Amino acid sequence: MKRRKFVAALGVGAGALAVGACNQAADSCGDGTNQGTANNSAIADKKQIYNWKLVTSWPKNLPGLGEAPERLAKIVKDMSDGRINIRVYGAGEIVPALEVFDAVSNGVSEIGHSGAYYWKGKIPAAQFFTAIPFGLTAQEINGWLHHGGGLELWRELYDDFGLIPMAGGNTGVQMAGWFNKEINSLEDMKGLKMRIPGLGGEVLKKIGGVPVTLPGGELFTALQTGTIDATEWVGPYNDLAFGLYKAAKYYYYPGWHEPGAMLEFIFNKEKFNALPADLQAILTHACRAVNQDMLDIYTAKNNDALVTLVEQHNVQLRKLPDDVLMELRKVSDEVALKVSETSPLTKRIYDSVMKFKNSVLDYHAISEQAYLNARTL
Ligand code: CA
Repeated sequence: MKRRKFVAALGVGAGALAVGACNQAADSCGDGTNQGTANNSAIADKKQIYNWKLVTSWPKNLPGLGEAPERLAKIVKDMSDGRINIRVYGAGEIVPALEVFDAVSNGVSEIGHSGAYYWKGKIPAAQFFTAIPFGLTAQEINGWLHHGGGLELWRELYDDFGLIPMAGGNTGVQMAGWFNKEINSLEDMKGLKMRIPGLGGEVLKKIGGVPVTLPGGELFTALQTGTIDATEWVGPYNDLAFGLYKAAKYYYYPGWHEPGAMLEFIFNKEKFNALPADLQAILTHACRAVNQDMLDIYTAKNNDALVTLVEQHNVQLRKLPDDVLMELRKVSDEVALKVSETSPLTKRIYDSVMKFKNSVLDYHAISEQAYLNARTL
């Protein structure tokens, strides 16, 4: 509660600062649609204040996911000495949760924060930029994106939509989800109506389940009223905040479907390209910092939240049986391959991420994996 007030106060302060600076500069400030122009000198550009909107797919200030856009706004304001003021809007405040992509593409908002797999109906390859079931971990996807050619491919994919994507956080390995019955075989997932977006949802469909995509803010009610039988969301820190334990008893792991789910910041390309170069650099590096920071938050908070779920709320923690995981992996590989056949660019993205996965598998087997095993011998 305290934190919410603090963030709200910060937002008001930022707005007030922007108005004051605009009056002094007496040029094209104020409505959030202003841009630097080619005629501006570097000095004029440095006086200009940019009041930008950021729309998200999350309830405002939601722990973890919703903290990232607020953090971006704060550090960009600090680094730019107030030249970019970003106001964050929660899901439904300007546009519904799952219309963030269109809102930024159409210039309704300058920035968006969401998950690329929500756009799979429009762009099947977008799913590869959130998570591939049994694919890359957070550490690996950051390596592929920033030093393995991933980001260039993502920019190519979004270019037709007038968008520039950047990594916007990572949850690390998620949980498999909340169920009201035990899962002992794939049979137990047949006919199951489960909220599970992206490629994981395609896998569920292939084994006879019914995948549903719902924004996070609607999960609790859907599960409690029986509109859905099961749901995945993120991990203990986020799932505790939504109170999902009140609507389902069994909490399964590991999150085979989202082993290192990456969020996205998307920028309206025209607006971004019109910024002075130093502000473009500030936004780019701020996204990079926020991307890492989200993983740091989950690493720091997930275990305490899990203890609360199990000890205070009597949640039944369960591991998916090995044979179920092996079957899910087989189906997952088939599903990802099928999606890769939807366009030449999708195939190039798939080939790039799979080549990267195979290249890190060998070394991670004798480094990360071997070490984590050794630590618990
Ligand atoms: Ca998820």
